[in-house]
Amino acid sequence: MLRQYELVDLVKSYDPDANEDALNRAYVYAMKKHGAQLRTSGDPYYSHPIEVAGILTKFKLDSTSIIAGLLHDTVEDTDATIEEIKELFGEQVAQIVDGLTKLAMIELKSKDTKQAENFRKLLLAMSEDIRVLLIKLADRLHNMRTIQYCAEEKRLRISRETLDIYAPLAERIGMQEIKTELEQIAFRELHKEAYESITARLNFLREKGSDLVPAIIRQLEKDMAEGGIRCEVSGREKSPYSIWCKMQKKNASFEQLSDIMAFRIIVDDVAACYQALGIVHSKYHMVPRRFKDYISTPKPNGYKSLHTGVIGPENTRIEIQIRTQEMHEVNEKGVAAHWAYKQGEKTAGKNFRWIQELLEILEESSSPEEFLDNTKLEMYNDQVFCFTPKGDLIGLPVNSTPVDFAYAVHSKVGNTCVGAKINGEIKPLRTILKNGDQVEVLTSKAQHPSPEWDRFVVTGKAKAAIRRYIRANKREQFITLGEQILERTFKGENLEFGEKVLISVLPNFEAESVEDIYAKVGEGIVSAWDVLKAVYPSYKQSKLGKVVKSFKAKSLGRDKKNKAEPLPIKGLIPGMAVHFAGCCHPLPGDRIVGIVTTGKGVAVHSIDCKALEKYASEPERWLDISWGDAAESDLHVGRLKIILANEPGALGDLSNIIARAEGNIANLNITNRTMSYFELIVDVEVHDLKQLNDIIAAVKSSKVVSYAARAN
Ligand code: MN
Repeated sequence: MLRQYELVDLVKSYDPDANEDALNRAYVYAMKKHGAQLRTSGDPYYSHPIEVAGILTKFKLDSTSIIAGLLHDTVEDTDATIEEIKELFGEQVAQIVDGLTKLAMIELKSKDTKQAENFRKLLLAMSEDIRVLLIKLADRLHNMRTIQYCAEEKRLRISRETLDIYAPLAERIGMQEIKTELEQIAFRELHKEAYESITARLNFLREKGSDLVPAIIRQLEKDMAEGGIRCEVSGREKSPYSIWCKMQKKNASFEQLSDIMAFRIIVDDVAACYQALGIVHSKYHMVPRRFKDYISTPKPNGYKSLHTGVIGPENTRIEIQIRTQEMHEVNEKGVAAHWAYKQGEKTAGKNFRWIQELLEILEESSSPEEFLDNTKLEMYNDQVFCFTPKGDLIGLPVNSTPVDFAYAVHSKVGNTCVGAKINGEIKPLRTILKNGDQVEVLTSKAQHPSPEWDRFVVTGKAKAAIRRYIRANKREQFITLGEQILERTFKGENLEFGEKVLISVLPNFEAESVEDIYAKVGEGIVSAWDVLKAVYPSYKQSKLGKVVKSFKAKSLGRDKKNKAEPLPIKGLIPGMAVHFAGCCHPLPGDRIVGIVTTGKGVAVHSIDCKALEKYASEPERWLDISWGDAAESDLHVGRLKIILANEPGALGDLSNIIARAEGNIANLNITNRTMSYFELIVDVEVHDLKQLNDIIAAVKSSKVVSYAARAN
């Protein structure tokens, strides 16, 4: 175990400005807090965070990271609190430890390997500060190094998770060293027999060809020297795990795998990389399809190198990687090394401003691919990942709610959801989900999607499903309303009404069923009068011939005995045709004026009608008229503008209120519609202004109505 002064010296060796005092205090604090706790190995628990800190020094991380590494298990496993850590070690350390504590609490329960990718994204998304991830990887590495002390079941589970989650994560942020070691140990635990047989085989080959690796290194060094290239050559057998992977991939036996040795040539600069490659290719036979240029096209995680396969010295098939020292460091240590390089270039190098440095690198880099994984860190910031009760992970956009979650699980779950438990507690459906939340959707067969939900859901799937449901539901309302309007209209005229009479006129309205006609009338696309005229084409001419209609849907349900009466208006020129203007719909009680129109007789307007403005310069056309004594006994159309909540049943409520006030809906037109309200123009037949005002008052008192007034 690293002693306190050893750790401090290690950090100071690459960061002379390290916060020595805080490092010392963190070391002591971790020891004290973990106290007598023991690991499964029998070692004191505090040896673990200290070893983790030691691993972090290999990546030359700043003192904040080392301190957070020392403290990473204190909040989870001891009585230490985030507040205390913040007080003692500052905001940054506290935030990182908090992030690590949250990571420790989530665990991938699902056995489904497809979930692994989501889980990795979850870890990335939760590691807002990349140091959280680096410490998590160091933590996992030390746990793997000491895994032999764990029980069989735990060993397998942790190894599986390491292989599925943490090794790919290490690779993604370019930390090859950690990735390789994690894989080695996990492989040894999970596939003991394969591991042992490959290792035995490697040992056998090593004994047989005793100094093959050193011999090849010597030859390659000689080749490079002859070509005038300064370099360092190293060689190794490939790891048992990478050999095993190749065997799996190529479905080959160990004997069939020829290149089990890999060599690395490290040169001074990029130009030398290509010169060295030229030397290798001119001297040895190339193996087809093995050459890869990751310098001109780096891997997404920033990896740069030249790869080639040749029949090399000693007639052995080998793999050769050629790269600069800087590329090598970055390949092995990932973002950490890149940062260290940038740091080294700075003469002062006072502040370790890790994240800012990374951002600068990102901004400066000409190729956005270069540090794709950091952009990925940001990319996942607009997603949250939540667990189902079974442990499956669901990825959702940021600001998603339990309703989004429910629809992501299944439309049926979404349509019937009534509530949600988040981490075991009942929460409102509009609660915004956080990374790692476990969400249990409560459903009820009686529930339907609510238009309310549309205001807070964010996923397209949820929005589409809610709107689809409401549209279907609205049609039901229109059908009911349309049937009511038509029935009143027909019966008011003493005409036969029913599906039978409507079937014959379906084509007139491009309807496929009687319900279609009801829906069209209910929605105001077709007026009830149009339907009546279609069914009884001769009706209007014979019975309503004398009445000049103010607009197409006027004069429905009128009382028969009044029908023969002319318009009850005083002051008219006898014999002159007269009609009520469609713009203002004057009612008995309104002050009115007559306008002599060209060819259409006299139009009756209310005195405040805007349409009168255009006759202002022609006083000769104005007629002074007033309502006759019997005016109220006739029916007139009053036009209302109503804003109605877009709720199931609201239209039905409205029509009932109007019917109770003895008004008759002659026509209804939806002029605007949003998810939360309808804007309607409703033409109501009334006797006079007072009745219309009564209807307005009744309509206004309904809780589904937010605005009602006479329309002008
Ligand atoms: Mn730990």
